[in-house]
Amino acid sequence: MPLPPDFHFSQGSLQDFVDCPRRFQLRYLDGIAWPAVQAEPILENERHMQQGELFHLLAQQYLVGVPVARLTAMAQGDPDLAAWWQAFLASAPAELPGQRFPEVTLSAPLGVSGERRLVAKFDLVILATDGRAVIFDWKSSRHRPPRRWLAGRLQTRVYPWLLLHAGLDLNAGQPLAVDRIEMIYWFAGFPDRPERFAYSGSQAAEDGGYLNALVEQIALLADGEGVWPLTPDETHCRYCVYRSLCERGVEAGRLDEADYRDFEPEVEVDLDFEQIAEVEY
Ligand code: SF4
Repeated sequence: MPLPPDFHFSQGSLQDFVDCPRRFQLRYLDGIAWPAVQAEPILENERHMQQGELFHLLAQQYLVGVPVARLTAMAQGDPDLAAWWQAFLASAPAELPGQRFPEVTLSAPLGVSGERRLVAKFDLVILATDGRAVIFDWKSSRHRPPRRWLAGRLQTRVYPWLLLHAGLDLNAGQPLAVDRIEMIYWFAGFPDRPERFAYSGSQAAEDGGYLNALVEQIALLADGEGVWPLTPDETHCRYCVYRSLCERGVEAGRLDEADYRDFEPEVEVDLDFEQIAEVEY
């Protein structure tokens, strides 16, 4: 089944493809919602996902000017959430002078002839008065991932690349300087240990080549028939809802044995393309 013309790639779908082509096929092309859990214990996993969503909401509301007292009251009912929220207020990761763009969605063409589309929703972008363009991503993961793990994630490649190619609209139509782009992961459970990735022209060129090659590989597979390759790394299967369908086991992996991955609801964010800043090549 060829990729639908309006198909948009995201860091999540590309990460799924890199982890397991078959998962990409089942989830994004076949649209199969399989009734299985990602991780056990179920309730704890669901609670953690919900806490993460609430934390992101609190941060977003703070950044658009909702009074702190009201947000603090919202966080009170949950000790983990309240602790993350206090850490956010105390370490003030977003207090950088400049123009703030919370929860902004950007899109840019991708692929050899630019006929594909890459989309991302950023927790926060700040065009700082000192000339930097800083991407913030809030993480509520249970463990603090090491730098090398983060460096290998699609998000670390997609976000700066997309800001470079689609950030003109945020900057009054002016291109952003590639070597002034920076990505910061801020961890609610480890507020004093953010991880920073500086960007550069050579990294942008490498990322562009890599992302283009990925989407072409996906398009080629989509043009063919049959089942896409299953990952040889079965650790991915332990935390994948399709494991029984793929005959890769029945029981979900345990949360306390998981690596640093974020568990997310199996629902793709609904994107309103009318509201997305996009550039054409
Ligand atoms: S269960 Fe394993 S092989 Fe099947 S889609 Fe998930 S990750 Fe891929």
